[in-house]
This record gives sequence, structure tokens and C-alpha cells, in this order.
Amino acid sequence: MSNPSIDTHPLEAEATTEPLLVVDNLHVEFTTRQGLVRAVNGVSYTVNAGESLAVLGESGSGKSVTAQAIMGILDMPPARIPKGEVRFRGTDMLKLSDQARSQIRGQRIAMIFQDALSALNPVFTVGWQISEMFRVHRGMSKRDGMRKAVELMDRVRIPAAKNRVNDYPHQFSGGMRQRIMIAMSIALDPEVLIADEPTTALDVTVQAQIMDLLAELQRESNMGLILITHDLGVVADVADKIAVMYAGRIVEHAPVHDLYKTPAHPYSKGLLDSIPRVDMKGQELYAIKGLPPNLLDMPSGCAFHPRCPYRRDNCVTDVPPLYEISGTRGSACHYYREVLDGTLG
Ligand code: SF4
Repeated sequence: MSNPSIDTHPLEAEATTEPLLVVDNLHVEFTTRQGLVRAVNGVSYTVNAGESLAVLGESGSGKSVTAQAIMGILDMPPARIPKGEVRFRGTDMLKLSDQARSQIRGQRIAMIFQDALSALNPVFTVGWQISEMFRVHRGMSKRDGMRKAVELMDRVRIPAAKNRVNDYPHQFSGGMRQRIMIAMSIALDPEVLIADEPTTALDVTVQAQIMDLLAELQRESNMGLILITHDLGVVADVADKIAVMYAGRIVEHAPVHDLYKTPAHPYSKGLLDSIPRVDMKGQELYAIKGLPPNLLDMPSGCAFHPRCPYRRDNCVTDVPPLYEISGTRGSACHYYREVLDGTLG
């Protein structure tokens, strides 16, 4: 993929055989008045060019904090990264200066946030806000920037883009505003796009349209896509692989179709069972009992044990490692074999 900033960016090691983005044993903790919160506890994942990774988990699972660590937008302090690496094209971004990181952020790794209305500036037209990317980072004139803004609005399928480029954010629907955010995030042809709950505030039909759009843009540009969501239902057609997070750890990772077919962790199984299905009309929907743990007072052993319908005695005392099931699958459940073959009861 062409990227005009490639000759001037701060990374030293462009040529590498490792994946485009590698999160390696990342730990993030926050100092709070109540004590130390270990929000991310040894998370590792990789994203290749043209690959989509869905990072799934409930609120507080560490999925967004991991993304913020990748982007370098955590407030430090109170956050601290005591261990781990975030390698982009072979270079550990955590070791780069703020200035070097800011050259990568937005240009080579971009992020779409959940709430488009608060991410967009209400006092500037959408065309102005999109064209600013080109004026600031590419030195374009106002006129050329606006022309590029219309092109991008067309690309994310905003109807009558030319007529709407001078409208303000509040004049667009929620779905259209999210398309504008997507236009801004892809303006500079990033190599990695992180979408943090991009469809949460939208209705189901618009959610599907936004997901389709992201998948299409990713195919066209060969970006690596990290899709952060709490909703397993929205990622099946977009993601190649899934990492399921719980209480700051990855508890299962797998190619998307393997996980949908045979989950290897009771938490993933519970999330799958809670997706509404057409053939279950009239039946009560399954819900995982209880709440995610308080990160200041983590349960002993397996962090999921207070909510797990299959827990055994050793689950309360022994922390399960991330067992390798195959080269592409792993599960942090002592009984993953039984979960896989459906004999755990
Ligand atoms: Fe449940 Fe035990 Fe597996 Fe944890 S280790 S998910 S408590 S069966």
C-alpha cells in the first residue's frame, strides 16, 4: 500500500518478517485512590496486513485500554505500562519519543471512536474537519483539501456528498456521523485501523451497514483492522479471528469460524449462547450470570470462576494459563478439552 509518509516516519526497521502489529505480553495498570488496578494483564495478539481481529469483551475487560496503549493515548500517570511491547513493523512503539509516536498516530495507525457526536467538533463543517487531515498532514490547500473531503465522503457512501460537505455534524444522523468519522480515520491511508465499538450507539440495520463498510474499506486498502466490541453478533462477517478478553486477559483466541462453531472457553460459550437467534423465537435468551469482577479485588484462581457454570475445585485456586490448542487457537480454561467436545457439565 502506498503511504506518502513512509520515507519520513520515525520507524527504523521497516523490513521485518513479523506481523504488521504485534502486542506482546502487554501489562497496563492504573494507580487509583482505592489501590492498583491491573487493567491489562499480559495481553498478546498480532494483526497482519489485510487481516481483521475482533477483540471481544464486556466493559472493563481491558480491550479498550489495550487499544489506547497501542495508540499511545493513555494518560500516564495514572496509567503505567510496567511490561510488554507494542511493535509496529518491528519497532516497539512504547520506546519511541512522544513526537515519533505522534507521527505514526492518525497517519499510519488510526482509530475510530465510539461516540461520533462528541468526537466531531460541532462548530466546524464536516468538510472542514475531514479536509483538515490533508491540510495539516499533507500540506494541501483548502480547495484541494475540500475536494479530497468530498471524495472521501463519497467513498464512505454519504449520499450527495458534494452538497453536504458544508453541513455541520448535528445535521447528520448517527450512522452518517459514524461514516464521517470513518472517512477521517482512513483519510491518510493508515496501515492499521482500530475501531472501538464503532456501532454501539446505532440501530441494528445501521450497525450492519457500518460493519459492511469497514470490511469493504479494509479489503480495498489491505489495512490491518482491530475491531473492539462487546457484541459477538456483529463480528462474524467482518473478522478473521477473535480474541476474547475477560478481566484484563485473553481467555480465548481462535479463527472466527472455529470459535463460533466450537468455543473452547465457558465465557465465549456463554457470549455465543446469549446472541439472539431466529430459530429461538419465543424462548428466553441465555445470560451469563453475575457481573465482571472488580479489578481491585480479583477472584482467586480463574477470574471467571464466580460466574462459571462448570467450575471445579481447582478453578478456585489455580490460575489457568493460556493453553495452546493448536497453532491458531488458545484457551485459558483448565477444562477446554471438555468444553470443546461438549462433555463438561
Ligand atoms: Fe470455568 Fe474452571 Fe474453565 Fe475457569 S477454568 S472457565 S472456572 S471451568
